[in-house]
Parts: sequence; structure tokens; C-alpha cells
Amino acid sequence: MNKAFEDFLAWTCANEWGSEETQKKTLNNGVTLSIWDSGVLEVSPPKPGKKDIVLSCAVHGNETAPIEICRDIINDIITEKQTVIHRTLFLIANPASINKGERFVEENMNRLFSGAHSNGKAHNKERERAAKIEQYVKRFYETSPEGERERLHYDLHTAIRDSKREKFAVYPFTHGKPYNKHQLQFLLACGVDTVLLNQAPTTTFSYFSVNEFNAHAFTVELGKVRPFGENDRSKFAAAEQTLRRLISEDSLDFGSFEPNKHFIFKEAQTINRMNEDFELNFADDVANFTSFDKGDLLARDGDENLYAQHDGEHIIFPNAKVALGQRALLTVVRVPTESLELE
Ligand SMILES: [Zn+2]
Repeated sequence: MNKAFEDFLAWTCANEWGSEETQKKTLNNGVTLSIWDSGVLEVSPPKPGKKDIVLSCAVHGNETAPIEICRDIINDIITEKQTVIHRTLFLIANPASINKGERFVEENMNRLFSGAHSNGKAHNKERERAAKIEQYVKRFYETSPEGERERLHYDLHTAIRDSKREKFAVYPFTHGKPYNKHQLQFLLACGVDTVLLNQAPTTTFSYFSVNEFNAHAFTVELGKVRPFGENDRSKFAAAEQTLRRLISEDSLDFGSFEPNKHFIFKEAQTINRMNEDFELNFADDVANFTSFDKGDLLARDGDENLYAQHDGEHIIFPNAKVALGQRALLTVVRVPTESLELE
């Protein structure tokens, strides 16, 4: 067998910004593996089911647990221990940042999709890579067999900080379409009971798949960042098992939908850092989903004080050190699951 298929991740990290060289191999069980580029592996079963599944990791290179999960699933596919009945595209998005052990090399890749890689004058390798990844996703979805298909994309991450709600997913803006109950149940089976609804378009990878390909797509935060080999994989077992079931079973049945098992939040405020003189009014290590009450001071930006506007306003992704104009803090409030338009 080709060396590349034996150790796809090692090869990917050795060709970190891409090595477009299509390689193909058909396994004894009839599954065809095609490498399109470093970190880009298409898995095609001989008689594919109706789902086209994209599993991506390492959009942030130091988020190791999702990389380990994808690596293990890929290895088990190659050794024929893992059955695959649906077309699946694995994407290891930013190998150079894996090598550095950092979130990114020059620029946060999860702000570069839906064409943002080509906006403005800036040019760097992450922008080039994001543009290529968009093309691979397009090629994958647009070369599917005829007939009614279900397009899925789970972009797997881990968070930098502790979280009061350890696993959560971001549901990209749906442009008014109802939220999907089965997808909420799928996330719950992955151990993700908390979902944050985006209320506007973004330049994230998951929104790209929603908006351009009508996929069910999510940014999935599976826990806290740790170095390679230091992840407690038992904490990720539900997600890994559910992803393995997804690619190997015709359809997944999660029983009846129970609204009270899902904790849904929507955005309250996005606080962008507009001044050099910017500080958050809480400790650096405060956990995601820490709750504040109306009138609590959240941040000071130059001369302006920024307060919580609701009781039970939870903070997410605080980062006082972002570049000027970028988001330093997001706040969210809980909404009853029953109040959503669900399909
Ligand atoms: Zn991430």
C-alpha cells in the first residue's frame, strides 16, 4: 500500500501547505480512498448511501482532540476495521499550524471562508489554503451520485478556555429556515447539549457549507485544548462513536425529540475591540458560559463602558488581545427550545 495511505496525517504534516497530487487506492472491501491534497481524503464506498459527509478538523492547529479522532477513524478505514457506507471527505485544514502547535500561523482560518480569503490586500498561506479548501468542498458535494442527497458537515474544534458548558455547537445562520431536530439530536448523541444560534452570516467554515451547499453544518466545540497525547479520549468517546455510526449506518434513529434536553442560546451582544486601550472586566481564565446580570460591567473600550443588557447573559470566547476591530467578546442568552421554529 502507498505510504501516504498508511500514515496520512504524517504525510499531511510533512507537506503542510499542500501538495496537490491525486493518489488513489481501492481497498479489498471496495472502498476507494483518494487523496486530493495534503490533509484532503475522499472515502468512496462502492455503493454509496444517500449522505455526503464532510468531517473537518485542525482549522485551528492546536486543537488536537478532533485531529486524533479523525486520524483514528481514517486509520480504521484504511485497515478495514471501520465500515463506511456514505461518501465522506476528511479535511485536515491547517497542517502548518499543527506543526507549530498553534491556533494559526498568520491568520485565524475560521474567519476566511465564503470568499473572505480574497477580501482586502492581505495575502498569506492561510488565505490560499482556505480558498483551496472551499474548492475541495465544492468538488465533493458537486460530484455526488444522482438523486436526493443529504449534505452534512461537522467542523470539529476544541476551545481554548474552560467552559461551564463543556461541549457546544454553533448553528450557523439559516436565513430564516427552521432548525433541524434530527441535527440537534445528532449533536446531543455526540455529547453536545448546548447550541448557539448565529443570527447573521459569518465567515466561518460551517456557514460556508450551509450557505453555498445547503448542508446541515456546524462548528462543534468538543472540550478544552490539550497537547497531542494528553487528551482524555473517554471525554470524546460519545462524539467519536456517533461519528463512526454516522459514516457506517444507513440512518440514525434517536427516538422522539425531547426539547428539554437541549440548551439553546442566541447572541445578545458582540463586543468588538475598537481601541488599543481595551480591557475585560473579569479574570483572564473565566470560563465560557459564565453568567452575568443586567448592568454588570463586562468591558471597557477606550472611554466607553460596556454592560450586560440582560439577566443571565453568558459570555463566550472572550479575548481582549484580538486585533482592532475584531470580536473581543460574545454574549448569549438562553431561549426555550420550544420557541424555535423546528422541522
Ligand atoms: Zn477552534
